[in-house]
Amino acid sequence: MRKQAEGKKPARRKPAAHSARRPEHAGRSGQKPSPASGTDRRSGAPAAAREQRQPAAGFAVQRPRSERCPYSRKCGGCQLQNLEYPDQLRWKQRLMERLIGRFCSVAPILGMDEPYHYRCKVQAAFGVVRGKFVCGIYQSSTHHIIPVEHCRIEDENAGRIIADILALLPKFHIVPYNEDTQRGVLRHVLVRRGYATGQYLVALVTGTPVLPAKNNFIRALLKLHPEITTVVLNVNRKRTSMVLGDEEQTLYGPGTIEDELCGLRFRISASSFYQVNPVQTERLYRAAIEMAQLTGTETVLDAYCGVGTIGLAASAKAGKVIGVELNPAAARDAAENARRNGVKNARFYAGDAGEFLRETAEAGEKIDVVMMDPPRAGSSREFLAAVCQAAPSRVVYISCNPETQARDLAYLTSHGYRAERAQPVDMFPWTHHCENIVSLTRRATPHAPPRTRVPARSGG
Ligand code: SAH
Repeated sequence: MRKQAEGKKPARRKPAAHSARRPEHAGRSGQKPSPASGTDRRSGAPAAAREQRQPAAGFAVQRPRSERCPYSRKCGGCQLQNLEYPDQLRWKQRLMERLIGRFCSVAPILGMDEPYHYRCKVQAAFGVVRGKFVCGIYQSSTHHIIPVEHCRIEDENAGRIIADILALLPKFHIVPYNEDTQRGVLRHVLVRRGYATGQYLVALVTGTPVLPAKNNFIRALLKLHPEITTVVLNVNRKRTSMVLGDEEQTLYGPGTIEDELCGLRFRISASSFYQVNPVQTERLYRAAIEMAQLTGTETVLDAYCGVGTIGLAASAKAGKVIGVELNPAAARDAAENARRNGVKNARFYAGDAGEFLRETAEAGEKIDVVMMDPPRAGSSREFLAAVCQAAPSRVVYISCNPETQARDLAYLTSHGYRAERAQPVDMFPWTHHCENIVSLTRRATPHAPPRTRVPARSGG
């Protein structure tokens, strides 16, 4: 396991969203958690769930219906449409205080100055409705496409690129894919923007590997949008709610784009996990690194590291960073990101975070700080037990689901840790999702087992 990474007929119900992680949440993003319930079935925290179903509760000032997004009811992505932005922040603060406040004090949530068009990853489903080519979002929990001309949270230019792709299709005889007959070509378009670099990646997701007139089509698209720096063809032959398939070929440019976060450059492919709100991501990472109180000597474990963003951002302030990530492709990207940024004190491993940390603790290797950022389901009991066994002096827990975070904090605080401070960050304005960081320190325990310091793995 410890492998170091190198380098409307009746509405058809969508299968449960697969995505391990994040509030990809909304609309065009396709893979979304159940927006209607607002609950995480795995965690079962009724108070928060109830509150999420009644996002207006306790707020007298409701936004007039005329100002709300016209698609919001069908899309289901932005559950807090009825609240003005400052009230959304108050609502999230209240939720955090209710769930996390029993462990530690909760600092005021970091909101956005401009809570619009923050999503740098935009997806649209393509189809044919009454003989007309359409693209847009899936109506909540169905496969009906709702044409959307303007989304208030997505990157505006990505929306224009998608609209122009739709307009170009007839000219190049590219027909949207029909899920029932399994005929046609284009299923989805995914656009990613490198926020700091201005680069755009377009992924054309098709049901077959053959895209008619692809060179001329791309030429026409680039003429309209010279900011597109790469186009990939992604083939998804499966009957699935997943947007992307496994086969990919680059049609134009390098196949990836780059973005900058915390002074580092990251390579992003169509399928990489990369936070969708770069402005708030930077604030999140900076706050988390500050809460880690690094002095330059510590060994930091970046658990659930994705493409290594947190660990690499922390590496300048740490003695050494070890990252672990389940997805081998992401772990490889993390290693490559380290190389490209000239970071020499970070190593990334593909594997289960719990197993990895348990083995590390059993080998007696010292971890000073654990920075953990698990998926919505929270951490595994194995991982939490391994944290307690490894006994780092500090844990920084970043979470996109305060309910599972509260569950995990209950474990850590009853097994030798004290929660110090919570810092919520609003990564997803207009939705009920909220990111939160909690710092914990290890209590002095008289019965702690003696620790032996063994030189860590080579090449750190
Ligand atoms: N810290 C990163 C990624 C967070 S998303 C960032 O901020 O971008 C959570 C990550 O945990 C995903 O990349 C997912 O693949 C990974 N993951 C899920 N289960 C895991 C497990 N059991 N062990 C290690 N990583 C896991």
